[in-house]
Amino acid sequence: MHEFEMIRDYFRPLTMDRAEAGGLLDDAAVLEIPRDFDLVMSSDTLNSGVHFMDNESPANIAHKCLRVNLSDMAAMGAKPYCYQLNIAFANMPKEDWVKEFTDALMADQKEFGIFCSGGDTTVTEGGLLVSMTITGLVPRGKAVKRYGAKQGDFIVLTGDIGDAGIGVNVMLGVLKLDDPAHFLNACHRPVARTAISDIVQKYAHAAIDISDGLISDLSHICSVSEVGAKVEAEKVPLSYAARNLLDKGLVTFEDLFTGGDDYELALAVPPEKFETFKVEASKRGVDVSAVGVFEAGEGVSVINASGEALEFDQQGWTHF
Ligand code: ADP
Ligand code: MG
Repeated sequence: MHEFEMIRDYFRPLTMDRAEAGGLLDDAAVLEIPRDFDLVMSSDTLNSGVHFMDNESPANIAHKCLRVNLSDMAAMGAKPYCYQLNIAFANMPKEDWVKEFTDALMADQKEFGIFCSGGDTTVTEGGLLVSMTITGLVPRGKAVKRYGAKQGDFIVLTGDIGDAGIGVNVMLGVLKLDDPAHFLNACHRPVARTAISDIVQKYAHAAIDISDGLISDLSHICSVSEVGAKVEAEKVPLSYAARNLLDKGLVTFEDLFTGGDDYELALAVPPEKFETFKVEASKRGVDVSAVGVFEAGEGVSVINASGEALEFDQQGWTHF
């Protein structure tokens, strides 16, 4: 397949005929920022061999790339607007590959309410690289930052923690499970909590999406907000499947809290607003849990049901 056919036949439909994308016939997209809104922008890149296996399915790569980008919009309290799609191919892909890749993007675009505004297609002498730059909109001055957590705020998490990290260990062959489907799915199709962007923006003092592990990402909120965080391990929401592995001793709290790739949100919510936040989140199909409190001090500590501190060797995932 020729590059221009790929753009015309497979990427152009992803624009949903939005005027901003100009049918992918121009040099750049022209975005419309409504009065009294800020444009929020972020990029995330996935590399073959680093973020996905060399033979990973095009659908899984597409879902993961769009969703990790959407997750950053959720963490800022922004409503998704559009994204640029940049791909460096190691080899010219087969048409089936491009079809599966763009079908997966289209399915997620409909679910999350976003369109493709353009991108770039090139070749590389390394492995496949897929990168997106996503934009979102938030009322002027209302983007939620990592700083802003106050002493006394609840540490609030969306969804369940640890499933994706278990999935990564299954893929790496570190953990062998009879039925890993639930965990692999969590890893390939992160949830991206843009369904609650509006209430994150309304109720949270600070927010981050958990990409490198609960402890590691919470510690980012702590350092820039100049607070400490005390997490009660037993309150951290786990899936039934993860709880089962924990009870059997096949995974530890450390594995679950430092594994990464959750793409759930960690938020600082003032205690008096938590119940309202929880009800509003539930209306949007998202479960949230208060798992501890931000307090004076620095760093993240984790305590068990008897109040004893749990010591972890590692904090989370790093590339280097
Ligand atoms: P130029 O050489 O001027 O940069 P390109 O040939 O790279 O133009 O791109 C032509 C059009 O196709 C542009 O509108 C660009 O946004 C779009 N495009 C190229 N690659 C992609 C892609 N991977 N996904 C979406 N749009 C793309
Ligand atoms: Mg170009």
